[in-house]
Amino acid sequence: MTGDSVTLIGAGLAGSLLGILLARRSHPVRIFERLPDLRHEQISAGRSINLALAARGIRALELANVMDAVRPLLIPMPGRILHDPEGHQTFIPYGQRPEEVIYSVSRPGLNRVLLDAAEAAGVELHFRQSLLTANFADRHMALIDESNGIQQRVPMRKVIGADGAGSVLRRAFVSQLGIPCSEDLLEHGYKELTLPAGPDGRHQFDPNALHIWPRGGFMLIALPNTDGSFTVTLFLAYQGEISFATLTAPDRVDAFFAQYFPDVGALMPSLAQEFLEHPTGVMGTVRCSQWSAGADMLLIGDAAHAITPFHGQGMNCALEDCVTLDRLFDSAGNWSEALAHFDRARRPDTDAIATMAIENYLEMRDTVRAPRFQLQKALSLELERRYPDRFVPRYSMVMFRDDIPYSVALSRGRIQAEILDDLTADAATLADIDYARATELIVRQLAPLPV
Ligand SMILES: Cc1cc2nc3c(=O)[nH]c(=O)nc-3n(C[C@H](O)[C@H](O)[C@H](O)COP(=O)(O)OP(=O)(O)OC[C@H]3O[C@@H](n4cnc5c(N)ncnc54)[C@H](O)[C@@H]3O)c2cc1C
Repeated sequence: MTGDSVTLIGAGLAGSLLGILLARRSHPVRIFERLPDLRHEQISAGRSINLALAARGIRALELANVMDAVRPLLIPMPGRILHDPEGHQTFIPYGQRPEEVIYSVSRPGLNRVLLDAAEAAGVELHFRQSLLTANFADRHMALIDESNGIQQRVPMRKVIGADGAGSVLRRAFVSQLGIPCSEDLLEHGYKELTLPAGPDGRHQFDPNALHIWPRGGFMLIALPNTDGSFTVTLFLAYQGEISFATLTAPDRVDAFFAQYFPDVGALMPSLAQEFLEHPTGVMGTVRCSQWSAGADMLLIGDAAHAITPFHGQGMNCALEDCVTLDRLFDSAGNWSEALAHFDRARRPDTDAIATMAIENYLEMRDTVRAPRFQLQKALSLELERRYPDRFVPRYSMVMFRDDIPYSVALSRGRIQAEILDDLTADAATLADIDYARATELIVRQLAPLPV
């Protein structure tokens, strides 16, 4: 399977990582990327400025041997800090072992590391080259050089589309081959803002946490950056009484933040200006019934299965795609078998994380505030202490375990949610829990996990 040239579309997170892995397998690899080279030009690397990196993403970066260069970019976040409307803060740990943390990482910083490693591995990087269309009948793609408008035709042979949620390659594939595929856009959008460092250059809130201001129908979150700032993201409906549609003037934006997020709004001097200047991002879920066309083409990452950002897993899942594919290149007999197997085997997991991401939106913006939610979180950790091989909180399975597929996390998570509901039906604190019943329910319903 080695030797054949491979063309990748998109040098984002998945494209650049897969380029490294393929080049190591002695494939000549070239990547066409629409944007300029972000290592030399100051550009936004795409959607969010920083991201939560977790176990699945870390394993992929380790496989590519780039973790030494990534580590200085990371800020550990062992839990979330909830901010109530009065400004009180409550820390809720994500896990219970020292290694159970997620990390805030700069998207452009991570992308730079991956591009450097790809180049060092021999990958040819072609920037400002946009895929315009792909023709599955004559097996050619048309690309345009964004700097001079010159177009070129490239054969569609061993092409992997890593061109993100709005993938041009996916849209051509779906429309020309009649592949069932849905793009469900959320009725909520997002806006990124900056909470600058304080006068002493330090973070103005605890940097070792993901901050959340849950307000029911909407929420604000903040992830720390290494320069002392936070990237603050507002998730809000497009339309309605409290929505982006009503926040159209500086005084309205200031009043909105003063009412709902006074502790953070007061620390953002450019709030209204940024709010009105920055784009409102769209979020959605892409579900396609097929990602490959024989040995010629495969979609990976967001191009194949974009999800909403509420579990902080889109990038982690896209990087895990590369690990899965790399393994299949070892185990499958040939290239097209590897692609076909990836296409079939990975979908239950990507469907599962898409579902969990949507469920997490409700949790983050609303249920996280409820005392019952907090009791169930504490009970989950207690049950994990008592039955570590059987009861692992769903959040931990998704974020801290790279050996438990998303589909297993979803199905076991459903059973665990029922157990938690049962055990907390009449409980106000952990002291009220009937642990004999917990043992009975857990042993009966949850088979041991691999240790
Ligand atoms: C607000 C928000 C917050 C998020 N937070 C997290 C988080 O905390 N943790 C997490 O794991 N995930 C998060 N995600 C998801 C994450 O951003 C994506 O899942 C991840 O970027 C997918 O990687 P990718 O390489 O598949 O696509 P992308 O990162 O989108 O890369 C696609 C690349 O293709 C290029 N491209 C696009 N079109 C063309 C074309 N026609 N021709 C050539 N090149 C093209 C683009 O310029 C880009 O470089 C978040 C997403 C959003 C919107």
